[in-house]
Amino acid sequence: MRRPLVAGNWKMNGSRELTRGLVAEIGADLPNDCGVDVVVCPPYVYLDMCSNLLESQSIALGAQDLDTHGPGAFTGAIAADMLLDVDCRFVIVGHSERRSLYGESDERVAEKAAVAAERGLIPIVCVGETQEEREDGVTEEVVHRQLDAVIRGAGIKIFPQALVAYEPVWAIGTGLTATAQQAQEVHQLIREQLSDASAEVARDTRVLYGGSVKPDNALGLFTQPDIDGGLIGGASLKAADFLGIIKAAIS
Ligand code: PEP
Repeated sequence: MRRPLVAGNWKMNGSRELTRGLVAEIGADLPNDCGVDVVVCPPYVYLDMCSNLLESQSIALGAQDLDTHGPGAFTGAIAADMLLDVDCRFVIVGHSERRSLYGESDERVAEKAAVAAERGLIPIVCVGETQEEREDGVTEEVVHRQLDAVIRGAGIKIFPQALVAYEPVWAIGTGLTATAQQAQEVHQLIREQLSDASAEVARDTRVLYGGSVKPDNALGLFTQPDIDGGLIGGASLKAADFLGIIKAAIS
């Protein structure tokens, strides 16, 4: 049985004040041992603060990215060991914004997933097609290629500890959510692809959906057989919405 997971990606949003408030509000209303893994991924500069605030709570900490180099002369970069040092357990790799705005290739994403897993972080590997790719009918091909690069570059061994997040680019931050059926179709393909490498891994790997998840559409998505929770952007910045989505994953 795969335990659902809901992760909040704050992206480049937040402040010390927002971090304090959000963590307190989520923590206050989150039922103890609710059966769902809850993760928050604030910007780097708030990780340490968040780690202190989360100390007594059943919320885990994640980063939004990492660099593959070790500590040293890499100005502006953050190493896996630094994330571990501030108690991060998770790290997002290959978010579509990293791919499109910072030119991260499939191979670079695979490298990041490999280093994260090697150092003991849990990578959340994002895959997903653009609007144009969906219209061109190549969704399956694109998602397969992105995941294949990770399976080849980092090894199937990083799963089931690592997670996959299917995030159709056209649904991220747009208010356009994939229907539960559209999402399930791709999630099933992802599971079949994992299964080609290992049936056990396919059975145990959690595959999250991300793209305009809100409290009112979360239940329909999370009750699909191959959807094991969500990677949440905008709605993770509002405690009530994030809690509503977590509750949908509980039921
Ligand atoms: C995301 O940033 O990964 C995301 C899914 O954003 P949103 O929920 O706002 O679409």
